[in-house]
Amino acid sequence: MLPWATGLLAMVLACMAPLRAQGPFVAWPGAGFPLAEMRHVPEREIYPNGRPRRAGILDATVVFDRRTPWTQGRALRQLRKTAAILEPCGVAFGRVVLARVEFSQGFKGFDAADVEPASGAPADVVRLVSLLPQGTARPVAFLIGAVRGTDSLAVSYGPPETARSKPAYADTAWISYRSHWLPRRDPHYSPVAHEFAHLLCRCGHTGGPSRHLLHRARNFLGSSVLPEDCGRIRESSLVREAQE
Ligand SMILES: [Zn+2]
Repeated sequence: MLPWATGLLAMVLACMAPLRAQGPFVAWPGAGFPLAEMRHVPEREIYPNGRPRRAGILDATVVFDRRTPWTQGRALRQLRKTAAILEPCGVAFGRVVLARVEFSQGFKGFDAADVEPASGAPADVVRLVSLLPQGTARPVAFLIGAVRGTDSLAVSYGPPETARSKPAYADTAWISYRSHWLPRRDPHYSPVAHEFAHLLCRCGHTGGPSRHLLHRARNFLGSSVLPEDCGRIRESSLVREAQE
């Protein structure tokens, strides 16, 4: 082979190597989206130095709409940031499914203010959650085009306090791609971690003089978690004990 051709081939192979390491997507069994592929994210992709020991385990699902600027790389970056944020609380990711889907034609996001009285969530949220396969691990982060009808760039839905049983949309987070791009004072902050923290600690925002994960002021959002929030996150029913 000509030297330049060999060089070109080496470059092409070097570009393909990370893709191979990330593993192929396969059809997502049981998913009702027009297109749905998934793969299991191996521990080393989230924790290159190994998963923290003696941590409670959080299984999770991340679904991104491939017709938006969300990509596998951006989804993984959010997962790694979230893992680093939750680690000091003694929580580590366990089985993580990353799914690449196409929502129905024309779907660009949903109106968070358009809540159906019967279900307690926007109709689009109820509809999209119904397309998940049975047994999908919670929490689920949907990385979508946009969230309208709110000042927030991301929202999450826990179980309503009065509900006897959990509705299907419970423990889902909806993250617009703008929240990924927004310049942050703390580059380690993650909107996925913020929404997962709401779902895990079953708590809202607080204030305070220092930056933290669940601060009510956008300028004060940061990657550190208040000790009381950490405690509740660790005690969450979504977190299971590791079987060592
Ligand atoms: Zn929030």
